[in-house]
Amino acid sequence: MWSGCALRAALSRGHRAHSALAQLRGILEKELEGIREAGTWKSERVITSRQGPRIHVENVSGGILNFCANNYLGLCSHPEVIQAGLQALEEFGAGLSSVRFICGTQSIHKDLEAKLARFHQREDAILYPSCFDANAGLFEALLTPEDAVVSDELNHASIIDGIRLCKAHKYRYRHLDMADLEAKLQEAQKHRLRLVATDGAFSMDGDIAPLKEICLLASRYGALVFVDECHATGFLGATGRGTDELLGMMDQVTIINSTLGKALGGASGGYTTGPRALISLLRQRSRPYLFSNSLPPAVVGCASKALDLLMENNAIVQSMATKTQRFRSKMEAAGFTISGANHPICPVMLGDARLASCMADDMLKRGIFVIGFSYPVVPKGKARIRVQISAVHSEEDIDRCVDAFVEGGTTGQPPSQEGAQDQAGSSAQSQGDHLIARWLMPRTFRWTTQGVWGQWPCLWSLPSSSCWAPWATG
Ligand code: PLP
Repeated sequence: MWSGCALRAALSRGHRAHSALAQLRGILEKELEGIREAGTWKSERVITSRQGPRIHVENVSGGILNFCANNYLGLCSHPEVIQAGLQALEEFGAGLSSVRFICGTQSIHKDLEAKLARFHQREDAILYPSCFDANAGLFEALLTPEDAVVSDELNHASIIDGIRLCKAHKYRYRHLDMADLEAKLQEAQKHRLRLVATDGAFSMDGDIAPLKEICLLASRYGALVFVDECHATGFLGATGRGTDELLGMMDQVTIINSTLGKALGGASGGYTTGPRALISLLRQRSRPYLFSNSLPPAVVGCASKALDLLMENNAIVQSMATKTQRFRSKMEAAGFTISGANHPICPVMLGDARLASCMADDMLKRGIFVIGFSYPVVPKGKARIRVQISAVHSEEDIDRCVDAFVEGGTTGQPPSQEGAQDQAGSSAQSQGDHLIARWLMPRTFRWTTQGVWGQWPCLWSLPSSSCWAPWATG
């Protein structure tokens, strides 16, 4: 039985909890509205099939060609990879209900670590639930306030977060700018250890770190080199070892972090590979390793089979390179500017944000799934559509994608008036020039006299940003 006093106290607590919740809802709604207004809202399209070059997407009729997954080698739906996952699930169960150091280490975890170290020709490797975790767990465990880390300004968010967590002195050099890296290394001479941190391949631009120059500077200034190889492992270099193989620097890079969630089967998981003593230290100190569950056996089984396939036969790596070349050269011949080095990330540079988002929507209508990226994911005025090539795209798939760009560029919907003026006024943005200019210019006059909205009512229905970028920087 409640006494009057207890009842009043309980009611008052309930009222306070209720108003705290109402206050929270207000704050959250405001935040969400801010994101929508800023045009940075990320929507997610729902795939109703397996991941692969051809997928089905909710509310889109028929199959579509997928050009925006990190499924570089197409292994995430490879029958042998799936079979290996099923077998591991059967033999080792759904999961460990434990972290590695308590009772979460199975023979398959040790086997995969050894295989990864062999693949990269390093002394040892350690698995993490993701590469995000590998990056979050490395710097803090390795570097102290006596040390320094020197990081490329466009490094992946997980490297930035990992560096934030450590107590080392932090230096940031301009993207790929070796003179600036040298200046920062000179400044960092006073510290005990210096670690240069870079992505091997940068996911927004498809450009590749100049590892030769980085390693040269590192050796001149007594620094170690760390490379995140998420967008390189499995397919860059003659046998898919990554950026270090591509640039002949296999023995110069001290530490590599990479993912199992892209080319190596695409499920999830990450790892660090490098000197044995470092890997041992990470097993003792690295927080995402110590305090998060072991990788599920099915995931380990899939990644392990993906590595076997890759090490047995590297034809798939060559096929990837040939298809990338086909897409890039055909697009360039059609007048588009494709950023980056010869990487399967092929950013089709458009400049204007609305143009990128309209064109991505238009491509979907033509049966091609690609993503438009604009500010703040990429710098203002550098909006693009990111196309990602996979070894399992056929030549016909690639040609269809190119054709869709060409058709879209000549007959598709225009961007907003503002966007058009932006685009027209920026000759430096002359991306896909003659096509896009042909697309925009003759209509500019009509836009200004009749108003773009009346003429292309579809633009009203665009979300405040249809530049939804679920894998921004990913
Ligand atoms: N590093 C880079 C360069 C990435 O692109 C990504 C993923 O998008 C990660 C780290 C994180 O990898 P994971 O998905 O395994 O957490």
